[in-house]
Formats: sequence, C-alpha cells, structure tokens
Amino acid sequence: MLSKLLSITAVIGLTVTATIAQDTAPYFPNNWTWKNASIYPPLFDSTGAWAKAPTNTSLVQEWMKLVNWTGVPNATINKLDANGNLIDPYANAANPYCDWSFDGVCTRPADVVNCPQKGVWGLTFDDGPTAAGAALYDYLASIKQKASLFYIGLMVAQYPQNAKRACDDGHHISIHTWSHQVLTTLTNIEIVAELKYTEMIIKEVCGVTPRYFRPPTGDIDDRVRYIAAQLGYTPIMWDLDTNDWTNGAPGGVTAAQEDANFTIWTSAAQLANDTHGHITLQHELTNFTVNEAIKNIPILKKVYNVMPVASCIGETHPYLENIVYPVIQPNGSVAVPANATNSTTSSIPPVAPTTANVGSASAAVVAESIVPSASSAAYSVGSSADRSVVVSAALGVVVGVIALLANTL
Ligand SMILES: [Zn+2]
Repeated sequence: MLSKLLSITAVIGLTVTATIAQDTAPYFPNNWTWKNASIYPPLFDSTGAWAKAPTNTSLVQEWMKLVNWTGVPNATINKLDANGNLIDPYANAANPYCDWSFDGVCTRPADVVNCPQKGVWGLTFDDGPTAAGAALYDYLASIKQKASLFYIGLMVAQYPQNAKRACDDGHHISIHTWSHQVLTTLTNIEIVAELKYTEMIIKEVCGVTPRYFRPPTGDIDDRVRYIAAQLGYTPIMWDLDTNDWTNGAPGGVTAAQEDANFTIWTSAAQLANDTHGHITLQHELTNFTVNEAIKNIPILKKVYNVMPVASCIGETHPYLENIVYPVIQPNGSVAVPANATNSTTSSIPPVAPTTANVGSASAAVVAESIVPSASSAAYSVGSSADRSVVVSAALGVVVGVIALLANTL
C-alpha cells in the first residue's frame, strides 16, 4: 500500500501530520527487464525526497536542440515560499504570462480545460502508476471504462507492471513530469528534462510516446506552454476538482464532502446550466482517492458519457506512433475515422477544442490507446509494505518535508 502516515514533530513546537505517498517499491525493480535502466535519473536524493531530473546529461543536451529557443517567453522563473506556495512576482493582479496558478482562470486556446460537448465527462487520474491504483484499474476494466492517466516518470520506474497493464487496458497515457515539479519554478532546461525523461520511460514500458501532459498542481505559464509545445505536448487541465488528494491532511476533503461535490456535478441544475462537458481532477494516489472514484463513477455514468480526454476532444492520435485511439460518440458508440490511421511523427499539437475554455478550478490547487492486446496474465504490483515513519526534526527538516509533501501531491 502506498499511503503512509508521516508524523513530524519539530523541536521548535511545530507539528505537522499528514498522509503522504512514501513509496517503498523497489527502485527499477528487477522483475522488469529494463533496456535503459542505467540512463534514467536517480529516483531519490540524499534526503529520500524525489529527485529532480538531471540536466547535465548528453540526453538532455540532445533534447534541448528540439526547442527553438529564440521564441521562448521571458517569464520570471517563479519561487516557492516556505510553505511550498508559489510567490506571485507580478504586482496589481497582473498575469502577463497567463500563469493558471495565479488566478485559476487564465488559459490559452491550446489548453484543454474541459470537454467541449455538454453531457460528456473526461475522466482523469494523476500521479500514477501506484500500488493503490491497481484496484482502480481492476474496477475500470470490470466496467470497460477508459480514463486518461497522467504518469509520473519515477513512479513508472517503480511500478512498470502497473503502467504496462494500464496501457494494455486501453487507457490514455499522458505525461505528469519525472518528479512532480512545479514547472514554472524550473529553468528551461529543467522543464525539458522533467518532460522528456518521463516520455522516454513511458515509451520503454508502454511503447507509446504521449503527445499530452498535465502540469503538476496545474502550474503552467506561457514559458512552460511554449517549451512543451515545442516538444510536441499539449496541456490537459481540468475544470472540476475533487480535491481528493487533500484527504488525510489537516482540513482535507472528507468522503462526504467529495460525494457531495459529485451530487452537485450530476444534478439536474448542473446539467441544465452546462454549456460544455467537464474534465475532473482525480488521483490514483491512495486507497481513499481510488475508493471515492469507484464509488462515484457509477453515479457519473448515469448522467454523463464518461470517457478519456483524448476521446472527448476528438483526438484519434494521442501518441506519436501510428495507433488510432477510439473517439467515443455521445451515444457511447466508438468511432474510428477511416482516414485517421496514419498519424506519423508529427510534433504539431492537435487542434484545440472549439468551445471557450473556462477554467473554474481552484487556484489553490496544490496538490487512456488502442494498444495491443489486453493483458491476460495476472500481474503483480510492486512490493511495498505499510510503514509508519516518525521524524523528529528542526524547522529545516520540516521545510524539507513540506517540500516532500509537495512532491507527492
Ligand atoms: Zn500530480
């Protein structure tokens, strides 16, 4: 199980208790045959926190050549405060580079924020693959439901079987960075490394090269958009947030609160007022987030046509490879355009949805492939065991753990 109780008591009187994902799966498990294990970044730093993808490798130098740097927007590289929150460098509510984190509404036309068609629900799960996610994958397979999954590179390294299973099940796989970084706080080369290392490990495990990504915590500005677009990735955001990842933290969402949101979102009033469909933010992070999804998906399906985001925006080629992803029609039928069988290695982002993108998600967000045959063999999740970690430390360590917490959301 992934979820662990972490209790930190600082000697200066601060006490922070939160449930976090502290992974105990083996690093690059030896029950998976890695072709390139030696060229992937280290997963953890010396403190045990997730390690940023390195920038001093020949691979990253090659990837840097994929970007036309003369056009990159000169946005400030943001900083985080001691609580891990973004510091807004612009005065008077200015948002010159359209950082979604600063106002929760600013998007650009290419950002996918909702499903264009009313009555359609784009189902997404972030932060996988995880041990907890296996039950979600079992459930989705049992009801033949596909979803968009946003994968963290270093989690793919630890749970390759789970990732392969999700790909084989036909979910829409996209990038969620190598180590879950707040992208606007990274340098240009760090952004390239975080995105491309994740692309590389998904390609090795699943055989596909994603053309979509989701920025961790929804943090994206024009500089990140430009670099991602140059690398061939289109951002997928969301317009409804379950806040499921906050469960277990002080003030975090409860099951009753998350269920109440689904009651509102599936109400007659909501459907009557809708001018477009929705994309929700959910996670495969913990047993709570998975159980809430399993509980609420049947309720959603009574009133929405639930599908992965690729399908809801009519994207038949969410990967660079020549694989046609099914477009699910509002009546639930699956349509594969006859002329949609020859996508090649184009890095041109797909056409954005035609309706206005309306981002109404909270600015305080902190935080699917016709792929070859379905996996029939039983697969095993990465070994892990519950473990309670009690750390007593000074403020510096608390700050470090807060950073670790931020890394896990
Ligand atoms: Zn995330």
